[in-house]
Order: sequence, then structure tokens, then C-alpha cells
Amino acid sequence: MPVRLKSIFFVTICCTLLFFGQRLLFATEAPLKIVTTQTLFADIVKQIGKDRVEVKYIAQPKFNVHFIQPKPSDVRNVAKADLYVNAGLDLEAWSDPLLEAAGKPELFRGAGRNLDLSKGVTILNVPTQPISRSQGDIHMFGNPHYNMNPENAKIMAETILEKLKEIDSKNASYYEENAKAFVSRIEEKIGEWKRLCGFCKGQEIISYHDDIVYFADFLGLKAEQFIEPKPGIPPTPKHLEFLEGYVKANNIKAIVMPTYYPKDAAEKLSQRVGAKVITICQNVGEIPGTEDTFSFFDYNFKQISDALK
Ligand SMILES: [Zn+2]
Repeated sequence: MPVRLKSIFFVTICCTLLFFGQRLLFATEAPLKIVTTQTLFADIVKQIGKDRVEVKYIAQPKFNVHFIQPKPSDVRNVAKADLYVNAGLDLEAWSDPLLEAAGKPELFRGAGRNLDLSKGVTILNVPTQPISRSQGDIHMFGNPHYNMNPENAKIMAETILEKLKEIDSKNASYYEENAKAFVSRIEEKIGEWKRLCGFCKGQEIISYHDDIVYFADFLGLKAEQFIEPKPGIPPTPKHLEFLEGYVKANNIKAIVMPTYYPKDAAEKLSQRVGAKVITICQNVGEIPGTEDTFSFFDYNFKQISDALK
């Protein structure tokens, strides 16, 4: 073989080895195993971690997040996790027993691999007075349904980014780049949602449960009356009678609720007063077409703007 051809051959072999060697190195670097409590959190983690993370979630979005019963497979997944991402506060009362069953102290509440996404979020409705059982299932650290405001999705993205950089520092710039793309897209969408729903400001809605306060806060809506007479307490005829008068007196056009609460009381009220019952999802994937953070908010804002027009 002539010398020139020999050297071309040599360089080609070297490049090929280098290429496959790198691929092999990247492939052997196992992705971080992350378990989240809710689907919206799982989606944000995926959008920032991409192929460096393997994400599983516990709460199926078609069920009420207050009352999830983790399965043995959830316990096994948590036991294998490098990071556990949750809402903090007291929304997921099933979370601490699940962590205990999985038996990995570094994932326990307050430990280094337990990421509480309420950090940095302004929590609304924090009780200022001592609370008692007679008030129903009050969220004692304030309202934990903060995932309903897209401004909070930005804060959650920052919190997730910081943790991923801390536990996997060699891929820090990769996570930073992905988080930047997520935040700039959500900022753009926030502008779009505000424009779509700008006219809703100042209007009042009725919600089934007090899981709508952050959504209402984002749009400047008033949401102070609920189908539940007290949090976690099903509606009574007396309370529905009160709501009938209230809705009529205040010209309320929409009764909002996620998919998993019984709809009969809201439907009955709607028939009497003419306000529309609409679905506002509480989590990503709760209904078809809401499979990521953006389509989830898209759906909710479209629903409310259609109802209040
Ligand atoms: Zn709640």
C-alpha cells in the first residue's frame, strides 16, 4: 500500500475508534433515576434533564392527588431513585409513608436527595390562626396547589436545575441549556395566555375545591366560594342552596373542577343558575391532549376564556 493511502487508512481507523469510543462512554454513563410525586413535576424534570434522566411518577393524574395509594412498584421505584421530587407542604400526605417504605434515608423529607418544589414559591392562604378539625381538611402550611400558576413552573424549573447541577455537575451546562429553553418558552406562552384571558380579570368563578387559588391569582379572577362547604367535605343541600343565591347575585358564569370529583352537585347548580361547568385540569395528562406543561396550561386557559366570554 502506498504511504499516502496507508496514512489515510490509519487516520480513518483512528477517527472511527474515537467516535465509537465516545459513544460507548456516553452510553455507559447511566441516566439519573428520578421519581416525582406528580406528572407536571415529571414533565419539567424531563424537559430539563432530557436523555440524562429516567423519570417515573407516582400519582396518576386521573386520581385525586390528596388521596393516592402508592403501589408496591412505586416503593420499588423510589428505593432505586437518585432523586425524589415532590410538592412539599402537606398535599401529598401519602408521600412520607411511601419514602419510609422505600427505606432510603437520603430521599426522606429534608434530606439532600428530596427536592421540595415549594421552595421559592410564594405560598398563598397560609393560616394565620390556629386551625381545628372543625374547619375540614385545611392545608395547614398554606395552599399547596401552586402548580396551577405557570409563573410557578418557572420557579420550579430553576429549583430542578440547581439540584440536577448539584448531583450531576459534569452535565451542568447541558441542564442549563435545556432549562433556559424551557423558561424562555414558558415566558413566551405566559404572554400568550395573559392576552387570551386578559378580559377575565375581575370576574368571579366557583370551584369545587380550593385548588384554584393560584390559577385565579395568575388571571386576576376571584375564587372564594366552593362546592365543598369546607375543604374535603362533600356538598350539602344547605350549602348548595346558599351557592344558588350567591351565583345568581354575583352573575357568575363558570363552575370549575378537575375530572376526579363527583360532578352531580356542580351540574345541579349549573342547571338552576345557568353557569357552565368546565374542566380545569390539576395535572399534566389528566385528559388527552394535556400531556406536557405547555398543552396542560393551554387547555386550562382556553377552557376558562371560552366559559367567561
Ligand atoms: Zn387541596
